Amino acid sequence: MQLRSARLDEVELELVEPFETSFGIERHRRFLLLRLETDDGLEGYGECVAATEPLYSSETVATAREMIHGRFLPELLRADSLDPAQFLASTARYRGHRMAKSAVETALVDLAARAKGQSVSEYLGGRRRRVEVGVSVGIQPTIEQLVRRVGKYLEDGYRRIKLKVRPGWDAVPVRAVRRAYPDIEIWVDANQAYPPAAVERIRRWAVRERVAQVEQAFPERAIRAHAELARGAPFRVCLDESIVDAMSLEDALAAGAVTSLNVKAGRVGGLLTSRALAERARRARIPAWVGGMLESGIGRAHNVHLASLAPFTLPADLSASDRYYREDIAEPPFVLGPGSTLEVPKGPGIGVEFSERGRRRALKKSWTLLR
Ligand SMILES: [Mg+2]
Repeated sequence: MQLRSARLDEVELELVEPFETSFGIERHRRFLLLRLETDDGLEGYGECVAATEPLYSSETVATAREMIHGRFLPELLRADSLDPAQFLASTARYRGHRMAKSAVETALVDLAARAKGQSVSEYLGGRRRRVEVGVSVGIQPTIEQLVRRVGKYLEDGYRRIKLKVRPGWDAVPVRAVRRAYPDIEIWVDANQAYPPAAVERIRRWAVRERVAQVEQAFPERAIRAHAELARGAPFRVCLDESIVDAMSLEDALAAGAVTSLNVKAGRVGGLLTSRALAERARRARIPAWVGGMLESGIGRAHNVHLASLAPFTLPADLSASDRYYREDIAEPPFVLGPGSTLEVPKGPGIGVEFSERGRRRALKKSWTLLR
């Protein structure tokens, strides 16, 4: 199997509503989509989660385009193997750029699964037919709007609610949600917004409001602060941005800084590494779960397949399609099912179709490379 062509699209989709985190507000999402085609007509799709601004991570659409278009695709078009693990090995010499690598690796996994007549889930060894999901609620203009927004998601059927927090938007809004909904499972995610000195303050309100999990409270390198927060805590301390590979996970485990692992294919360089990290977490007896990066239906499909693997035991940050974009670029949409779940597409491959109409509407630029 060899590649015949690779097409990289830069697209922009409009969010149903603005999404605010500790680093800013997003109204649109501009990102890269990759389509690979082999000489025997198989297709594979991947999405790059890098944003236009280097706020969640140092990668951007521009750096990812440079790596994918300038290096990875020319090498792949010359390569005699399309094996995803081989691709990771041959690009290991390039430091970082994990989101760019993940876009290519996920497309190669899609191709490899289709070549075997399997879904991505089956290819990776997943068994679940449905995956449990929750919703991530951005910072809202007012506390009343936050409580109403949470109420709407609970009505829709989401069971686990994750609230984005930052200094100045934490104890009071979390208490308001807890008072309005005394029995729900609440997680919080600070996206690195607190200084290490905030350990005791965070612990106080998290314990008082019976928060089940505190995610990435401190900067990604602040492993010791996360370990202090985790010591004796009745809540889980989850790491997201801090864990970018096997070594960072080993160090965090050794330090006692991680008692729940958020896994994102984009952050760690693909689905194979995601699976390995989740298996390592299971051996360490800590739960893993699949995080989200406001993916379109293409990236979300990859995430849902990933979440079908056994080590992912907590609900994923993957909501139904109508929660994200006015018009998605993949069909059919993901719909929230019984027990706060999404169905794992049957395949082959990712099991969702690229919508040509959606692509035409969203397309900003496109590059095609031929063998
Ligand atoms: Mg997070």
